[in-house]
Amino acid sequence: MSERKLQPGKLVLASHNKGKLREINEMLAPHGFEVLSAGDLDLPEPEETGTTFEANAALKALAAAKATGLPALADDSGFCVSALGNDPGIYSARWAGESKDFGQAMQKVEDALQANQAQDRAAFFVAVLCLAWPDGHTQFYRGEVHGEAIWPPRGLEGFGYDPMFQPEGESRTFGEMGKEEKHTLPNGEPLSHRARAFAKFQAECL
Ligand code: IMP
Repeated sequence: MSERKLQPGKLVLASHNKGKLREINEMLAPHGFEVLSAGDLDLPEPEETGTTFEANAALKALAAAKATGLPALADDSGFCVSALGNDPGIYSARWAGESKDFGQAMQKVEDALQANQAQDRAAFFVAVLCLAWPDGHTQFYRGEVHGEAIWPPRGLEGFGYDPMFQPEGESRTFGEMGKEEKHTLPNGEPLSHRARAFAKFQAECL
């Protein structure tokens, strides 16, 4: 696959999700881009009709790149529970309903595990970053972090399903970690799915 490098300049962040925008903005901050968000530019939010994280990330990034004539970066991500066939997965946002109530979404995950009498509580987060160019070229970077679905949820940090996910080797959920801890291990390696995807993006594009 031919990978293109990004030159410093304007980059559109094709997301309307405040939690993800904040996290990706913080990761891009040291690299000298003028980051414009899809919301700031009043770009419509395309319907996520894809059946994979890659397809949905591409759909969002391509729509923003074509509408603006600028390179655009989109993230599609989700919380996957092994005993639920990796649900909610690409439907993670939808499980929170119109009101974006993640307390309710986490309860739905727990109810489904109870209904299945699941002993296996393995879970993971996935993030796929798609960098799209106005001519239709796309590049993909995938990050995953594996661990356990915790009940009851713990912690008030982060967003979405953070309070019910504890990464392998940790005694705290993402909801109990500050942003530095969620993204970076003490040895400097990336921890969160988004930081892992971003590290690949950074290595190839920046
Ligand atoms: P989408 O990528 O906009 O379809 O939404 C992904 C959904 O997955 C978000 O709304 C969150 O609920 C969930 N999600 C993705 N990444 C994270 C994370 O880092 N922490 C908690 N929840 C996340």
